[in-house]
Amino acid sequence: MFRRQAPNLPSPQVACVIGAGISGSSTARALAEQGWQVTVIDSGHFGAASLPLGLISPHTSKDDGALSRLSRIGMERMHVAMRTYLIEGVDWSLSGVMTYPRTGPVSDKNTTWHPDAAWIKPSALTRALLDHPNIKVVRDKVVDALKLESNTKSWQVLSSGACLLHAEHVVLAAGPGCIDLCSGVMRQYANVATPPFDAIRGQVSWGLMAQTPNAALPPNPINGRGSFVPHVPTPEGAAWFLGSTYDRTHPHEGVTEEDHTFNLSRLGELFPDTAKALEPVFSKNVRGWVGVRCTLHDRLPLVGSVADAPAGLWINSAMGSRGLTLGLLCSEILVAQMTGYPSPVDDHLVRAISSLRFAEKARAKMQRK
Ligand SMILES: Cc1cc2nc3c(=O)[nH]c(=O)nc-3n(C[C@H](O)[C@H](O)[C@H](O)COP(=O)(O)OP(=O)(O)OC[C@H]3O[C@@H](n4cnc5c(N)ncnc54)[C@H](O)[C@@H]3O)c2cc1C
Repeated sequence: MFRRQAPNLPSPQVACVIGAGISGSSTARALAEQGWQVTVIDSGHFGAASLPLGLISPHTSKDDGALSRLSRIGMERMHVAMRTYLIEGVDWSLSGVMTYPRTGPVSDKNTTWHPDAAWIKPSALTRALLDHPNIKVVRDKVVDALKLESNTKSWQVLSSGACLLHAEHVVLAAGPGCIDLCSGVMRQYANVATPPFDAIRGQVSWGLMAQTPNAALPPNPINGRGSFVPHVPTPEGAAWFLGSTYDRTHPHEGVTEEDHTFNLSRLGELFPDTAKALEPVFSKNVRGWVGVRCTLHDRLPLVGSVADAPAGLWINSAMGSRGLTLGLLCSEILVAQMTGYPSPVDDHLVRAISSLRFAEKARAKMQRK
């Protein structure tokens, strides 16, 4: 699915991808399909790969800005991938989603039905993407430093002082783990500020529909003021998923009661009867999942070579709340740059998500000092 025609390309090379979430696994797959040998290293937290359920849906804006355009093309890529690799009705469903305004009163004018939106179990997709003869996956290793060997021009990928491997190309696809990795490299080689990343904690609440057989649940997924997805098949029976909190300040890694309560109260703003019917589950046996999103202040991903760093260092991260919609497309954009294949999007979009947008500002700031 990632293969396209282009003449006079450099021959396939060796790459190390750090992170096996949606960004890392799709980058590895796209490189592997161009003949590259790829080692993926993951610390074992699995990022999106462990998110029990997510929505892919388009971003819309009055000016049809970069995020909206990327999300539309990203959705197309995801539809192809889901149809290619996953079982419909089990791993994903073209459920559609009703999108509500984030705040204020709700009316027919400000709600939108997106028929091409879908729910997906991301782990099924990352597993399928990594299943390729050119990809080797190393689990349970935290990459904590990268060092350029000046004589060979290859990168040493280090974990607790030990070199895990050498590679001419390293892709940072470690979600929030990119923040420390990127700033380490910037300190060492560029002496410029790291892009303004944020790490944002989020918690999903979920339960089995059999626990509340008489609850009046919305027939379709909803999104906008949090999200609610009913009728999802799981090995234990049909389930609903309710999310998510969005917290820049709370470092807690585990599931909290407070966040469950927040999710339920937000559902109550739009569907008070459903929230009431789910209350007994929340007081007894609601389940939860916690993860951390990596974002940038302009809410766009960061894709391309790491500006001001030595050659061979690339990044595919800062997917925010939309990694499932944007991840595959961003990998394709990155791999086009790494391999010399034509880009799937125009130059304007490539620049909008490149790290040059921050490097230029950082340089100007340093010159003013
Ligand atoms: C509660 C919640 C709900 C969400 N819901 C949705 C949704 O409905 N739709 C949607 O599109 N998105 C959703 N998201 C966002 C989505 O999960 C992210 O956009 C997506 O996970 C980003 O993928 P990624 O591969 O870039 O990073 P991640 O998923 O974070 O993956 C990074 C990987 O790198 C590994 N790693 C990190 N540091 C290191 C290191 N130093 N060394 C080695 N490995 C490392 C981690 O173990 C992880 O496996 C949600 C996020 C949260 C928290």
